[in-house]
Amino acid sequence: MFDKILIANRGEIALRVIRACREMGIASVAVHSTADADAMHVRMADESVCIGPPSSAQSYLSMPALISACEITGAQAIHPGYGFLSENAGFVQMLEDHGITFIGPRAEHIRIMGDKITAKDTMKALGVPCVPGSDGGVGDVEEAMRVAAQIGYPVIIKATAGGGGRGMKVAQDEASLEVAFRTARAEAKAAFGNPDVYIEKYLQRPRHIEIQVFGDGKGRAVHLGERDCSLQRRHQKVLEEAPGPAITAEQRERIGRVCADAVAKIGYAGAGTIEFLFEDGEFYFIEMNTRLQVEHPVTEAIFGVDLVRQQIRVAAGLPMEFHQEDLVINGHSIEVRINAEKVPNFAPCPGKITQYHAPGGLGVRMDSALYQGYSIPPYYDSLIGKLIVHGRDRNEALARLSRALGELIVDGVDTTVPLFRDLLAEPDIQSGNYSIHWLERWLAQHYA
Ligand code: ADP
Repeated sequence: MFDKILIANRGEIALRVIRACREMGIASVAVHSTADADAMHVRMADESVCIGPPSSAQSYLSMPALISACEITGAQAIHPGYGFLSENAGFVQMLEDHGITFIGPRAEHIRIMGDKITAKDTMKALGVPCVPGSDGGVGDVEEAMRVAAQIGYPVIIKATAGGGGRGMKVAQDEASLEVAFRTARAEAKAAFGNPDVYIEKYLQRPRHIEIQVFGDGKGRAVHLGERDCSLQRRHQKVLEEAPGPAITAEQRERIGRVCADAVAKIGYAGAGTIEFLFEDGEFYFIEMNTRLQVEHPVTEAIFGVDLVRQQIRVAAGLPMEFHQEDLVINGHSIEVRINAEKVPNFAPCPGKITQYHAPGGLGVRMDSALYQGYSIPPYYDSLIGKLIVHGRDRNEALARLSRALGELIVDGVDTTVPLFRDLLAEPDIQSGNYSIHWLERWLAQHYA
């Protein structure tokens, strides 16, 4: 086992990893930009190293700075968290060259899944059902027209290098396809430095269902059921729950097995998430994330496992601490993402926290790096906390979420908390009756 792990991240996810390290008796090293000198992860870790100026490119994304920090502190492994360098195959390679262990899958698996066309081809070959669409990339408008005519409108044009909900354009009919196609390519080039796009059938009322998988890197893998992440704004998740309110035990078992078998076959190591759109009882693969997800705590809640601990164990060459038959669902869990953003326009709202009080009590988990007097810097993601509740069933989880939101105090900046208070009053949310398009429609009606 490692003696010391460096966490190449900030905010709540850095705290999450530090906590797992501490429980395992492993020393932790925080890294930070000059803007984060007073951040909670710096205070909570055993050691810290300043790795650069505020801009992420020169700090949290700086591979030489991170490797130097490992060398200075003697950290033997890096946990990347999510975002930043968590899905960068070049970084994994570079760490390997320096004798530092990456806590995550092998570079080749990150590379395969990082290119969405290769990912789809690979999954199809492994027996995973995919969204109907183009075979590979689509190079020009004429080809786009041919493919779209074949699969039928509406279609969605997606960047092969895409992520974070960016680089997607919907075309309702042939008349709008050309503009959508050109815009998607231009945006993909600007955002990801790669203009390649592909086409999929645009599903009208699917749910976003993702399967948590875990592999030991030696050919054994399990699944930990699904998360329903259908409540989205601009293709970004806002609320997640597990188990999915629309998924039956048989459906879970079927798709879970397909996913676990697929990652076992490629010798996948560590945590991964296989994302699907789910409509009329069918699952359609859209992408795989080769890292820990923001919403992993809802899975931890219902299975009673610590996914970060398992990631660290597998990276150290130890076996996972569970088999498929040990993984039994207990109750229901919901997570809401609290962003420093002003409702209704969701403009980022950095600033000083004048008062902070985290909710507590049975079945409540607050993952946040906030504290009273902390100043949220303007340079990074606006996620400032995740409130996760666990109940014996969905109704209890909803009641607990409502109660916990009532206890939470974040003063000094605007947050998305009022949005969740409003959403909990909605019959569709109470009954779990929503698709990926529900929230956008609701926002247009209520927050216009
Ligand atoms: P990203 O990597 O940017 O997150 P994804 O491929 O995971 O992109 O898609 C993100 C979201 O976009 C999905 O959860 C869904 O809401 C929407 N989406 C993606 N593909 C389709 C599709 N074929 N039909 C309808 N919605 C889609």
